[in-house]
Amino acid sequence: TYNFCSGPAMLPEDVLLKAQAELLNYQNQGDSVMALSHRSDAFLEILAQAQQRLAALLDLPDHYRILFMQGGASAQFSAVPLNLRQNNLPIGFLDSGYWSQKALEEAQKYAEVDVIASSQSSGYLKAIEQADYQLSKPLSYLHYTPNETIDGNAFYCIPNNQLPNGQEVPLVADMSSCILSEPIDVSRFGVIYAGAQKNIGPAGLAIVIVREDLLARSQQNQQAMPRLLNYATVVEQNSMANTPPTFAIYMANLVFQWLQQQGGLEVIQQRNQAKAELLYQAIDSSRLFVNNVEKNHRSKMNVPFSSQNAELDAKFAEQAQQQGLISLQGHRSKGGLRASIYNAMPYQGVEALVQFMKSFENQYV
Ligand code: PLP
Repeated sequence: TYNFCSGPAMLPEDVLLKAQAELLNYQNQGDSVMALSHRSDAFLEILAQAQQRLAALLDLPDHYRILFMQGGASAQFSAVPLNLRQNNLPIGFLDSGYWSQKALEEAQKYAEVDVIASSQSSGYLKAIEQADYQLSKPLSYLHYTPNETIDGNAFYCIPNNQLPNGQEVPLVADMSSCILSEPIDVSRFGVIYAGAQKNIGPAGLAIVIVREDLLARSQQNQQAMPRLLNYATVVEQNSMANTPPTFAIYMANLVFQWLQQQGGLEVIQQRNQAKAELLYQAIDSSRLFVNNVEKNHRSKMNVPFSSQNAELDAKFAEQAQQQGLISLQGHRSKGGLRASIYNAMPYQGVEALVQFMKSFENQYV
């Protein structure tokens, strides 16, 4: 089967097989990896490896820290404003869809928010362009969602975070559905966060990458926020401010290793590009299916499409499932269909989907 779910999503088979064996017997020591004490040397080695491998994959500059946190990306919707709010300055948002909105709704509980630009009027059929806005006043930070998992749009350049006087406001990105899908220039960001359940591993884990100077803000805000969400505390405790999600971190470490074995993020980017091209070409040449996202803003990870007939879409998802192409129904808020084609989805999976789309189309058009 090929699983097109938006998350929890499929993981590489090699990773799952290794985890299966080690679930019973970690490194032939007779115990389950899930039962390793988080204080044991064996787990500390897993944690250190995971940090080192992720840093190597991202070519992480020295002044950034990697944090493993809990509560998925949604806990970060609260953590980011609580850590980074500063001097009553508003938080800027680039609103490009469903998840931008969710992040914004949570942030406004803790600070004033300022929507700097929004693509809502397009029905979120695009992300936001450099020309759409100019920052005019200081902000605690500027938040955006480079890949909107549900709307299927993506930014293809890092947004401008410069004020007219040349100063930069920290840029914060929710990379839940695009992290590790291509190389990124981490040095442009203040904070990057991502729920793990798409390109990294089990749901519940969140990866947070913080520029070191911003930890001073976390320290300043420490008294007015939950300890477990405080970046400075998590850094100080080496991601073990309480019992960490050890198994999820173990799985993430295996996925990072797999990515390195594949040749790193340039190779992964090429594969993702090829998969996305194949699928969008099939949609654009189809007599049945459409994707209305502006071509230069189309997501390479999440591809919504539809026959524009709810019954037919449901039939497609059901018949596809019977062919081993699973979880193609769109998000409950949007309907239609959606294929999530993260790193672990092989090219053959997309080929199988495209073939099935053609045969379905021939049957119904
Ligand atoms: N942000 C984005 C872009 C997402 O796609 C998702 C989930 O699918 C979330 C946030 C929420 O993640 P979680 O369920 O881990 O809180």
